Amino acid sequence: MGKGTLVALLRERLPRLGLTVSATTREPRPGEEDGVAYYFLTEDEFDRRVAAGEFLEWAWVHGHRYGTLREEVERVTGQGRSVVLEIDVQGGLNVREALPDAVLVFIEAPSAEELERRLRGRGTEDEASIERRLAGAREEMACAPRYDVRIVNDDLERALGELMSTIEKYENNGGLPEDVCDQA
Ligand code: 5GP
Repeated sequence: MGKGTLVALLRERLPRLGLTVSATTREPRPGEEDGVAYYFLTEDEFDRRVAAGEFLEWAWVHGHRYGTLREEVERVTGQGRSVVLEIDVQGGLNVREALPDAVLVFIEAPSAEELERRLRGRGTEDEASIERRLAGAREEMACAPRYDVRIVNDDLERALGELMSTIEKYENNGGLPEDVCDQA
């Protein structure tokens, strides 16, 4: 029911959106395949790719490194398709620097309690990881005002609808909302 579910459903509903696979140094969870969920890299391999300039952005998230590979994004945008990146706030703000047309959408959990319930319900994280993720979410909230759009993920269908209409609106307007000059 979290951000990952929302983005997975978005990709089902709008299959024309491009798929990218991020790289990470965290361990795979059971069932996560290399090259599908993520490219699971060793610390050395991640370092090598950072040094080679292969990342559009990368960041430390919950004690591990995660990054978007340039070639993943270029492959999709080169086909004239829009791409959705599910990344943390540091990554989001760095992507905006690199690609000023990027539209930043902040997906908000309905409450800290609900986020904790979702994390525990997933059953894949240990206590330390849950605590780290909750603290991270509180820090991320401070960046929400810098985003273009905020969507509260309380009701999955409603949040998905808002996300789809946001994408359609920005795609049709070449990056600017219709009402950009109407705002006081
Ligand atoms: P997880 O470990 O649950 O798969 O991912 C944790 C968080 O890492 C995600 O919610 C997302 O915000 C962030 N993340 C995943 N991929 C990337 C990436 O390529 N770049 C950045 N900056 N963050 C990412």
